[in-house]
Amino acid sequence: MRTVQTNMFEGTKRLQMNDSIDLTIQSLQAYGPKYNYWCVAWSGGKDSTTLVTLVVYLIISKKIQPPKKIFIMYADTRLELTPLFVAAQTIMDELAEHGYQVEVVMASLENRFLTYILGRGVPPPNNATFRWCTSRIKIEPMQSALEDLVGTLGEKVLMLTGVRQGESAIRDSRIVLSCSKNGAECGQGWYQETLPESLCDTLAPILHWRVCHVWEWLKHWAPLPEYGDFSTELIADAYGGDEAEEINARTGCMGCPLTDKDTALDNLLKKVKWQYLEPLKRLRPIFREMRKPQYRLRKTGLEESNEKNKQRMGPLTMAARKRFFKEILSIQEDINAGAKRSGMPYVILLNAEEQKFIKECWANNLWPNKWTGEEPTADTPMDTVYPDGSIQPLIQFGD
Ligand code: SF4
Repeated sequence: MRTVQTNMFEGTKRLQMNDSIDLTIQSLQAYGPKYNYWCVAWSGGKDSTTLVTLVVYLIISKKIQPPKKIFIMYADTRLELTPLFVAAQTIMDELAEHGYQVEVVMASLENRFLTYILGRGVPPPNNATFRWCTSRIKIEPMQSALEDLVGTLGEKVLMLTGVRQGESAIRDSRIVLSCSKNGAECGQGWYQETLPESLCDTLAPILHWRVCHVWEWLKHWAPLPEYGDFSTELIADAYGGDEAEEINARTGCMGCPLTDKDTALDNLLKKVKWQYLEPLKRLRPIFREMRKPQYRLRKTGLEESNEKNKQRMGPLTMAARKRFFKEILSIQEDINAGAKRSGMPYVILLNAEEQKFIKECWANNLWPNKWTGEEPTADTPMDTVYPDGSIQPLIQFGD
């Protein structure tokens, strides 16, 4: 049986841990009893995994009064980094052993990251103007699952989130609700900000936890039988293993086009057992490539519209969708050849159902709203049309 080692420094850490846990207990005791039902939004990242395992431990050890029922909703974006995905599956089984069934919440087939791009032709999100992903693949599915749940229960639930602000939470009690750059999970805080008050009130019981306590919990406490016997140490690999705390990597979708570096993936690839995931490094460049004019359509500016940007670039051409579909499948094949060789988990970027759906979109000539597919490709030279409708002809060079 595993035990917690004790020495002077460990003793101090233990005291601090106990303080953090005590504050969590107090917050759950203060707000929890006002609700018959609790719900946990679990992304599989370090903070929400800490929350979910901690809450279950506090209930089974009778340190808090449980609600009538607790619903755990795992948000699966279909692009979770492999060790996080594998860890989540294992922890789900362990939660089931404790009597807690997890509901997997996923966007509908047409709204998933890759099907939306490759099926409908919508370009990948970018930082500046077009960030459709977080709401479409994370927030809306959770909101819709919550609507169903609250509809069935007939009353509001208390939504527990893994939002964490460390010591600043105690200092000024402000919660920053955006996607933080470092050390955060993409979308962290968004549940807190966006889930409607009519469905739930939100509580962040680990708001005050420091990152070192999160790692202490995941690596050393939660895996012990007396704290729930959870395989939470598996999560550390996705954040840099033993150096996870120093690296403080942000996790999100594999190949996230909104970041400059694949920090989490790069750290993972330093470990021999995960090196078969190397082909994933090709994902982000593909998303970048997709945004280039030669793969997309453009409005001529002569159409009837109130748009300011009359000649805006739009969806991916059918040829581009087919090309990138093949490239993404080849990444999947290359990874899984390695997985087979090394006996590691397979990665399914596009499952059979998603592939079929994408091909149906092509067969149905599906385009985003306000696009027909008849528009020219965006690299076609054309007259410039200004927002007021005036036109500057294309400069023609003589023969
Ligand atoms: S990780 Fe990146 S791609 Fe995924 S939802 Fe967040 S911003 Fe979008």
